Amino acid sequence: MTSEPKFIFFTGGVSSSLGKGLTASSLGRLLKCRGLRVTMCKLDPYINVDPGTMNPFEHGEVFVTEDGGETDLDLGHYERFIDENLHVNSNATTGKIYSSVIAKERRGDYLGKTVQVIPHVTDEIKERVRRLGTVDVDVVIVEIGGTVGDIEIVPFLEAIRQFRRDVGRERVCYVHLTLVPFLGPSGEQKTKPTQHSVTELRSRGIQPDVIVCRSDRLISEDLKRKISLLCDVPMEAVVSAIDAETIYEIPLVLHEEGLDGYILRLLGFDEATHPADLSGWERLVAQVQSANRPVRIGIIGKYVDLPDAYLSVVEALRHAGFYHGARIEIDWIQAAEVPDLLRNDGLRDLDGLVIPGGFGERGIEGKIAAAGFARTHEVPALGLCLGLQVMVIDAARHLAGLTDANSREFAPTTRHPVIDLMDDQNDVVEKGGTMRLGAYGARLVPGSQVAAAYGTEVVTERHRHRYEVNPSYRSRLEQAGVLCSGMSPDGRLVEFIELPGHPFWVGTQAHPEFKSRPDQPHPLFRELVAAALRRAEGREPRLIDVSTVA
Ligand code: GLN
Repeated sequence: MTSEPKFIFFTGGVSSSLGKGLTASSLGRLLKCRGLRVTMCKLDPYINVDPGTMNPFEHGEVFVTEDGGETDLDLGHYERFIDENLHVNSNATTGKIYSSVIAKERRGDYLGKTVQVIPHVTDEIKERVRRLGTVDVDVVIVEIGGTVGDIEIVPFLEAIRQFRRDVGRERVCYVHLTLVPFLGPSGEQKTKPTQHSVTELRSRGIQPDVIVCRSDRLISEDLKRKISLLCDVPMEAVVSAIDAETIYEIPLVLHEEGLDGYILRLLGFDEATHPADLSGWERLVAQVQSANRPVRIGIIGKYVDLPDAYLSVVEALRHAGFYHGARIEIDWIQAAEVPDLLRNDGLRDLDGLVIPGGFGERGIEGKIAAAGFARTHEVPALGLCLGLQVMVIDAARHLAGLTDANSREFAPTTRHPVIDLMDDQNDVVEKGGTMRLGAYGARLVPGSQVAAAYGTEVVTERHRHRYEVNPSYRSRLEQAGVLCSGMSPDGRLVEFIELPGHPFWVGTQAHPEFKSRPDQPHPLFRELVAAALRRAEGREPRLIDVSTVA
């Protein structure tokens, strides 16, 4: 094995949303299937310092890494495909890069020189990429967000152009993803957008080594020849990436086209010592394709018009579905509409529901009502972060008799702040409150549903929230029948709750969706879907004692 890591840079042309992240992730998986050690990174040209404060309506979910990075949702694809945990530094934006450059300038690190895009910003970008090439990595895959031709992308293209010069040509490869549209009236696939996009890339000094063509149908040999000739890449470097049935089939589509083998050779790896073992991934795809037991899961959210806002939740549900051979049908339910829906029996057909994380007051009463509906109708439900908090509010109001219980996030003057801000010593604070971000451990109660699901009593999950279950209400909640089934290691913070006797009414203060992998579903999602399937298939035992339910 060569000791020096290699770098693959992914750029995109013609249009956004071509699936650059998924293509890069799929290549990552293929290289792992060849025994290489892979890490990935995303460079985003926008000016926000990180996606933490970006509106999910616009930008989709914020993906949280183990070390507490608030990152682009593509990192979720990376982790799910390459099955490696990434880091806060696996994602950098123009904003983050400029922040470090400006901080260095203020510290005097540049010794009074005029600070410029070249070399200071480009050096900062290159340094961040170089740092990812640690001794335990063979290949670093770097995706450049945005599209070639965007104003903001220019410093990134310049940096990756220089990078090849700096580390040596044989250690770098450029992959360009374009769109080859099919024009209905003329019945033809068109290569002109690809040519223009490659011309644009070349005008920045980058000649792509590989061109991946997204298309709704296979690119013919003739068309490949044309792209090869006009864009000056070998025929075998023109790869056709047709729309796949599911995202998990993309690695197989690209392997079929020879993408991984070609890149392996290009980067000087010996193909014979790195044969592709795709058996595990093929098994997964077979599972995906045969998952046909229908099960309907409602997601009660605020951003339901942009499903990308809950991307990891949806993927985690699907992973659980693959495991059980279940086809997950998602019902997107606007939280604010839940009270109306409940009046019209509108949630009755659900087999299970998820109340995902969120911030802000809008729709909160709908989420609380959904938690209550699931509790009283034996509907399997999983609450994630804010989802746990609304379950606690529902239980406090209807089981513990604290009728005006609320979270101080939504009702600052509530008499019963069952959810509240904590300071560093985990005591209630009146104002502020810092975000709890990244992986935290928890101890589970032996014999609880949650402990049974995990199969262990010590777990770690990723967090992203300010508010917590108020410890002073814990005993009242427990007396009312809620089990706090997982606590922080110091025993102060409630990390998991459940309702003994209910088929599955479980909340977690964390975001387990970030840790689910297609071939290793997260235990809580796996058990939610198992319970939902039992309900869907009419095998749900009546476990609940309705006399205890308000
Ligand atoms: N808004 C809640 C808090 O800050 C929940 C956050 C979340 O669901 N990620 O605690």
